[in-house]
Amino acid sequence: MSAASYDKLIFELSSPGRVAYSLPDSDVPTSDARSLLPEAYLRAEAPRLPEVSEFDIVRHYSRLSGLNYGVDTHFYPLGSCTMKYNPKLNEDMARLAGFARLHPLTPEALSQGALRLMHELAGMLAEIAGMDAVSLQPAAGAQGELAGVLMIRAYHAARDEKRTKVLVPDSAHGTNPASTALAGYDVVEVTSQPNGEVDLDELARHLDTDVAAFMITVPNTLGMFEPRIVEITEMCHAKGVQVYMDGANLNAILGITRPGDLGFDVCHFNLHKTFTTPHGGGGPGAGPVGVKAHLEPFLPVPVVTKDGDRYALDWKRPQSIGKLQAFWGNFGMLVRAYTYIRTMGADGLRSVADNAILNANYIMKRLEKVYDIAVPGPCMHECVLSARRQKRLGVTATDIAKRLLDLGFYAPSTYFPLIVEEALMIEPTETEAKETLDQFCDAMIRIAAETESSPQVVQDAPVTTPVRRLDQTKAAREPDLRWTPRP
Ligand SMILES: *Cc1c(COP(=O)(O)O)cnc(C)c1O
Repeated sequence: MSAASYDKLIFELSSPGRVAYSLPDSDVPTSDARSLLPEAYLRAEAPRLPEVSEFDIVRHYSRLSGLNYGVDTHFYPLGSCTMKYNPKLNEDMARLAGFARLHPLTPEALSQGALRLMHELAGMLAEIAGMDAVSLQPAAGAQGELAGVLMIRAYHAARDEKRTKVLVPDSAHGTNPASTALAGYDVVEVTSQPNGEVDLDELARHLDTDVAAFMITVPNTLGMFEPRIVEITEMCHAKGVQVYMDGANLNAILGITRPGDLGFDVCHFNLHKTFTTPHGGGGPGAGPVGVKAHLEPFLPVPVVTKDGDRYALDWKRPQSIGKLQAFWGNFGMLVRAYTYIRTMGADGLRSVADNAILNANYIMKRLEKVYDIAVPGPCMHECVLSARRQKRLGVTATDIAKRLLDLGFYAPSTYFPLIVEEALMIEPTETEAKETLDQFCDAMIRIAAETESSPQVVQDAPVTTPVRRLDQTKAAREPDLRWTPRP
């Protein structure tokens, strides 16, 4: 698209007297209308609205809509965390009038279908994760974490144990220490080995009777499976420490292994990552949390129960951590995830993990000659590159991400995990074809070549986007969204 087609605001297309409608003159005298409104609310002069034709309006907004980057038109190199395949079938199901138009306070007798869907979804998630019970209430992964840590807290309190600390590896997602602190615990960072794995000696040094939980992401944020995870959960349990698995990216292990079987007591799911519900601009999230039986009494209320063939909301749970979320969670997302799991079936879910892993390793292999790899593979569902080699030539991970925009790709995550210098985190997801992965790798290889031959091109990027580089802090903190007319 040429710059000229979007460099004008609708105000700048304005031409005095041009209109986009044709209506008969009003038969209400303006003087009457004015007398109905208090003087203080009347304008002295008409607002300066754009005066444009219907064509001007339609063409202007149609052009703008084409600037959107979306999963229906483009590939996202950090798929689960930003946007991946959102099956259209899920959307149809969520829009069925029986679900979409059901008031959340409809009496149980009249909402049996919705309650059944919630009960079955909780059961399927419990089976997928090897947990005993699941709450569907949390609206995000972060809120699932908060719910999980609050349940751990309630569990220790019920046993009259005063534990004050939660251990979190230094590779953790930022929400882990945040939700732990919000639940009232002191966060203690555990240093990882250079390859991103938990350092067992370091962990042992921290494990004492003051520790309430160890919270860990599997596969870790470097895209690696924790090889000694069973040893780790056993070490924790020996000290009465609960083990929390951040299961945001469960698509790497679906059908291969289960958090419950690895010894975890709590695990949250991101329906908007693993289970394909839209997120970001596409809709609200859902972060159900699963627990082992000993934590079940502490689940948020209400819990959907089944008695014979009747479903009900159980509020009489004296040890519950309480209610977390308006009504029963983001129900529309539950319908989508339920549809996805039922469509895929057990074999389908297993193939999700297989293909997610295959795709990430394909990218890692194709790029390992020109970029440094954070840790030697094979990886799981994502691979982490380091632009440290490029940085020596003056090109940073940010520059590379910006240059990708010029070449027609969304940017991957940069500078995360924090323990990798100049990190570029790439997760192609399970649904992308080899051709798409190749186009992306070609672009990355081209950028590496440009870094050596003409680094300025990469440093100056992006040049094809409507705006160039924004001030990354001020763009979010002091957004300038108002158009002021020229005098
Ligand atoms: C996305 C993510 C989270 C947080 O999930 P939200 O739904 O964004 O709150 C936590 N941990 C990991 C590893 C994640 O990828």
